[in-house]
Amino acid sequence: MRAKKRLGQNFLHDEGIIAQIIQVIRPQQARQIIEIGPGTGALTDHLAAADVPLTLIEFDSDLIGPLKNRYAKKTHVSILHQDALQLQLTQGPYLIVGNLPYNISSPLLIHLMKQSSHIERAVFMLQKELVQRICSGPGVKAYGRLSVMLQHRFDCYESLTVPPAAFKPIPKVDSQIIELIPKQNPSDVDLNRLEFIVKQAFAQRRKTIRNNLKKWFTDDVLIGFDIDPQQRPETVTVTQYEQLAQHHHANH
Ligand code: SAM
Repeated sequence: MRAKKRLGQNFLHDEGIIAQIIQVIRPQQARQIIEIGPGTGALTDHLAAADVPLTLIEFDSDLIGPLKNRYAKKTHVSILHQDALQLQLTQGPYLIVGNLPYNISSPLLIHLMKQSSHIERAVFMLQKELVQRICSGPGVKAYGRLSVMLQHRFDCYESLTVPPAAFKPIPKVDSQIIELIPKQNPSDVDLNRLEFIVKQAFAQRRKTIRNNLKKWFTDDVLIGFDIDPQQRPETVTVTQYEQLAQHHHANH
């Protein structure tokens, strides 16, 4: 079958790498598993072997028939022909895994972050550059909107790097595994508010935080949260962004 670029299809074929990824996933320790984008089943066979309820979410209609045939005898495997961006988690907590289609990775991660209370753990393969952006802390160039939003809800860990040759077709970039563990007590922040403030803060990275946020916060408010108004947005911590979002909520 020809891989579809618009669906971000790069199929894993290196059995050694697949085994290493499964070691990070530890499917046998999960209560319920969701795999996003099972494709031709490179990871799925190993997930199904764990014998815990497994739901596959695949958007490509050409792959649904082969997946249904392949797992016809496995009653603990269900297959949903669905766009993962529409996924609404109701039960759980789930172990969510996937070699994610690169073209929807960021919006999908934000979509799942909003439902983190239904997630026990997540292990995803992403472009390496994206993993760096998610896991970076303040003061690093890669730190930005995605780092703040995901670190608000998850502890984020970089795991193994996967070379392009492990996939067919071969992508142009390195990939990397990321592990996301939901925080037990994430700070109580309105997510839309946090998204809005963080978007404004990083609107112009080279400007000061004062300039980017002047419509919403006075210098005194910034200083109250230990932020020097002259700081650049990438030096403000996740906790400080959470505090700004809470303050904005309380005062508007
Ligand atoms: N898991 C397989 C592997 O590792 O070889 C395939 C990974 S491939 C990078 C991404 C998979 O996600 C493809 O099977 C693709 O059809 C599927 N996909 C793309 N967009 C999707 C979406 N919006 N919702 C669910 N699956 C999607």
